[in-house]
Parts: sequence; structure tokens; C-alpha cells
Amino acid sequence: MTPSATATILDGKLTSQNLLDSLSVELGALTAQGAPLPKLVVVLVGDDPASQVYVNKKAKTAQKIGMLSQLLTYPQATSQAELLAVIAQLNQDASVHGILVQLPLPKHINTLDVITAIDPKKDVDGLHPLNMGLLMSGDPSACKPCTPAGVMTLLNAYQVPLAGKNAVVLGRSNIVGKPMGLLLLQENATVTYCHSKTADLPAVCRQADILVAAVGVPNLVTADFIKPGAAVIDVGINRLEGKLVGDVDFASAAQKAGFITPVPGGVGPMTIATLMANTLFLYRQAQSRH
Ligand code: NAD
Repeated sequence: MTPSATATILDGKLTSQNLLDSLSVELGALTAQGAPLPKLVVVLVGDDPASQVYVNKKAKTAQKIGMLSQLLTYPQATSQAELLAVIAQLNQDASVHGILVQLPLPKHINTLDVITAIDPKKDVDGLHPLNMGLLMSGDPSACKPCTPAGVMTLLNAYQVPLAGKNAVVLGRSNIVGKPMGLLLLQENATVTYCHSKTADLPAVCRQADILVAAVGVPNLVTADFIKPGAAVIDVGINRLEGKLVGDVDFASAAQKAGFITPVPGGVGPMTIATLMANTLFLYRQAQSRH
């Protein structure tokens, strides 16, 4: 039995649904005007089962809110040149506003080459080096990577104070950890990055008013890592004995944290809703250029 949690649950299901509802209203207005609709294209190469689940969820969510979407799937053996040709064609297609290449790509494909080939104006996950640079310089025209941007929306929805607070980000990937720290910094948090080489991880984490775990190690973060009352955000998605678990040992952490995200139902749905919001954002930018 799970011990009774004391922390406030940061409900990603509810918060993402609120975001999707508001996007749906905007899309409904565009439909009523007879305007062209935003279109998201998700590209999947290979047969990674987790990726297949994610891309299907993304396409389904787009459909539900009335956004155009297309899922392009290619076999594992697809060459880099073939994938680059697909991206070039999507870049040219004026009806496409957001392009998402699902990661990880098969090992024979260079991820940076592929991400760099996406038109930065259609780079819906904000991973193109140009967009990463814009994010670094705090430029609001950058499309922000979906997962960390979704975490910020969730923190804001529960009015978790950020300015002047200590934020510790566990993980330094380009897709989650690094942009997460930059977004917290933009909100005036004092940010520390931790990673696999950090000395005395629990001690560093105990300084955190906001602790974000994006590591991929099941239940790494226990109550011992947590400052009483901290906001604990669990980005991790790990499969353990057939169950989905995060990087945070929820049962012990919830006894000490002030706010905590569950897995599932925390950051995952926020990522998908943010992908939809980002597509609409890129669509609006494209319309304003015409
Ligand atoms: P990654 O493997 O690219 O990066 C992991 C990071 O964790 C690295 O920077 C590494 O230095 C650090 N790390 C590894 N072991 C560590 C340890 N023992 N102590 C401290 N740091 C350690 O992973 P990623 O793509 O950033 O994803 C992280 C996790 O988040 C995964 O579980 C992934 O499935 C999940 N994820 C979830 C979502 C979502 O929407 N919820 C989105 C993206 C990724």
C-alpha cells in the first residue's frame, strides 16, 4: 500500500487538459473563419516500442483538438539521405507548420545532422541549434523544447514560486536537462545542474526548492534528496517490472516534498500538450510573415 502523501500533486493530466481545451477553442475559431489549420508532422524511423506509443499519442491528441497531423513512419534501415530528403520536402510544404523527428534515431543516423536539416521555423521541439541559441539568449521567438516548457506551464499553474529560489536540475541532455535549467533561469531561479559525475548528489539536491529529475534511473531520488516543502518534478519514464516509474521514489518523496508530479500523469501529458501549443505558436508566426 502507498503511504498517504502529504505533498500537493502537480496534476499534469488536468493541467494539460486545460491547455488542450484552450487550444481547441483557438482551433475552432480558425475553422469557423475558414482559415488554413496548423499542421504537425511527426516522423518516426524504426520500431522502438516506446517511440511508437509516444508518436501515436501525439497524433491522437492533435486529432482530438482539431489540429491537422500526419504520422510518417519509416523502417529501421532508412538511410540518413532518405530521411534528409523527407525533411527537405516537409520544409518546402507550406501546409506544414511543425516537424517533429521522434528521438532516438537509429544509430546509423546522425541526430544533429537531421535536427539541423529541419527548417528552424518549423522546429516544433526547439532542438535546432539556432533555436537553442535563441533560447540561450532569452529570445521569445524561440520555440521552447516541449518537455521543459511543459514543466514550466505546470509549475506556473500551481503558482510554485521560482524567482530567487534554488532550482536543481538532474540531467544535462539537450532535450530536457539543459533547456530546463535555462527556462528556470529565465524565471530568476538560481540554477544548479547535476549529472552522472556530480559529487554527493543527495547533498546538492537537498539545497533545491525546485528539484527536476530527468535522468532515466528508476527511483533514484529518494526522500533523502529532498528539502522539506520542495517542488519535485519527475521527468523520468522508466519501465520497472512491467510498471511505469519515474526517477523519483514517489512514496518516500511525497512525504517530504511540498509539491510533486506523479508518473504517469505528470510531465508526460504536459509534453504532448506543449507540442500542440508549439505547433500553434509556429503556425501563428508563419501567418504573421505572410
Ligand atoms: P539522457 O539519457 O539523454 O540524459 C540523462 C542525463 O542524466 C545525463 O545528462 C546524465 O549525465 C544524467 N545521469 C545519468 N545517470 C545519472 C545518475 N546516476 N545521477 C545523476 N545524473 C545522472 O536522457 P533524457 O533524454 O534527458 O531523458 C531523461 C529521462 O526523462 C528518461 O527517463 C526519459 O525517458 C524521460 N523523458 C520523459 C519525457 C516526458 O515527456 N515525460 C520526455 C523526454 C524524456
